[in-house]
Amino acid sequence: MTTFIATIEHVVKGPVWGCQDCGQCVLHSTGMTCPMNCPKTLRNGPCGGVRENGHCEVKPEMKCVWLKAYDRTQDWPLPATWKAEYNHLRPPVDNRLKGTSSWKNFITKRDRWTPAGWKSSTDESIASGVEI
Ligand code: SF4
Repeated sequence: MTTFIATIEHVVKGPVWGCQDCGQCVLHSTGMTCPMNCPKTLRNGPCGGVRENGHCEVKPEMKCVWLKAYDRTQDWPLPATWKAEYNHLRPPVDNRLKGTSSWKNFITKRDRWTPAGWKSSTDESIASGVEI
């Protein structure tokens, strides 16, 4: 069920960032480029299929989301901490959060749950469906 806050978030972030409502926003670490617009929905990219012209192997008409993210991270006046996070390993998407508000999930820390055995370079601890 879509909540009121998720609807507001969709209305704000959809047109501006192409938000796909994943519920675990990482825009700040991707040069304000939504990685969920990658046809493979990669949270860590680019993949090995980028064409010579920098376009996507799945959608040849589209520039690779991850090249765009890199360029923006370099060129846009973003906070240094956000720029540094571009190179951090992002956990896989938790599809149970699809359609929920990433703002709410950030506040409640629900967006920091990780699969069993997962440990990213920035994790404070390992969790298995448990809040960290
Ligand atoms: S909430 Fe998820 S889908 Fe929406 S902009 Fe952030 S990363 Fe993209």
